[in-house]
Amino acid sequence: MIFTDMLLAPADPILGLNDAFNADPRQDKVNLGVGIYKTDAGLTPVLSSVKKAEALLLAEEKTKNYLGIEGVKAYNAAVQALLFGPSHKVIQDKRVVTAQAPGGTGSLRIAAEFLVRQTKTRHVWVSNPTWANHQNIFETAGLICKEYRYYDAASHDLDFDAMLDDLSKANAGDLVLLHACCHNPSGIDLNLSQWQQVASLCLDKGLVPFLDFAYQGFGAGIEEDAAGLRVLADTVPELIVANSFSKNFGLYNERIGAVTLVAQDEDTAVRSFSQIKKTIRATYSNPPAHGGLIVSTILANPELRQEWESELTQMRERIAKMRLLFVERLKQAGVTQDFSFISRQTGMFSFSGLNKEQVMRLREEFGIYIVGSGRISVAGMTTNNMDKICQAIAQV
Ligand code: PLP
Repeated sequence: MIFTDMLLAPADPILGLNDAFNADPRQDKVNLGVGIYKTDAGLTPVLSSVKKAEALLLAEEKTKNYLGIEGVKAYNAAVQALLFGPSHKVIQDKRVVTAQAPGGTGSLRIAAEFLVRQTKTRHVWVSNPTWANHQNIFETAGLICKEYRYYDAASHDLDFDAMLDDLSKANAGDLVLLHACCHNPSGIDLNLSQWQQVASLCLDKGLVPFLDFAYQGFGAGIEEDAAGLRVLADTVPELIVANSFSKNFGLYNERIGAVTLVAQDEDTAVRSFSQIKKTIRATYSNPPAHGGLIVSTILANPELRQEWESELTQMRERIAKMRLLFVERLKQAGVTQDFSFISRQTGMFSFSGLNKEQVMRLREEFGIYIVGSGRISVAGMTTNNMDKICQAIAQV
């Protein structure tokens, strides 16, 4: 017997919260846990541009034959154009390679497996705090996580000096995990001058940026959100990106993302890509087609692309509006503590500053679900549930 002494794994801090939410019978419960975009009606519908692309694909599909190990080639080229801009030098110089992968998570994992097995690098520096799954993914693959300071709880802002100070202790070849935009969980990003300083530090010390790009278009815009990544690509010889289209195309359950590597020259890129493909072959052989075909269809079709961009703008602007409304309604509910920092942050998440006990009271007494750390998903707020949320916060 080999399963008798199996230990029960703890529930995932974010997806486990979803299970608890689903089991709650209260009609007026509110989920501010997992990062899923909701419309003001509280729904997560399929984007209209996606529905149209799917109709085209259904009409034109001729085979369910396997894709190549690296996925849909047109998709991979479209990803590069979206990340770097279509005429970036790394693309012209053929220093960049991309493989489709299952979501941001699958992309991070393939990147980590490749890095552990095919390079000498072992340490990855992650921000404190970071997305709850980063350490899990990296350590499962065999990387060792180290933390750099990032969020200053007292000022609700970035502690950039501390970040640079910690990263200056990293060794050549160490990886630096950076959230390209919409930092999860803090909602605080680097400005352009700070990106330039991080890029210079990476160049001087031989550190390799490892970008997690899960929210392109949710911060300031598609191009604006890639500015930090592009500064890095302009500066350092090597970097790696794991991106996801779960949020910005609403393709959560299609599991669509990509792993992209920039090498010092074309020959190194080709050799590195062969090893990334070997890693994929040993993991899931080749990716599912549907998500990659949806994204590449939309990005290649001017009308669909324009529609997607405007749908993405609507999502971004609705979240920004909810941030302002949240701050305003908290004040009206009698909360004297200053929450104005929430309106200065971007993306789906912010740290509310609520402690574990307050988070538990919100859940038990009011049916409002927030991650234990106090991270709230602003994307789950609507004009309908806002008063309930703010009054409950005022009470706890
Ligand atoms: N990276 C960050 C920072 C995220 O917040 C998420 C999802 O919440 C992911 C990666 C994973 O994205 P996916 O759902 O595409 O695996």
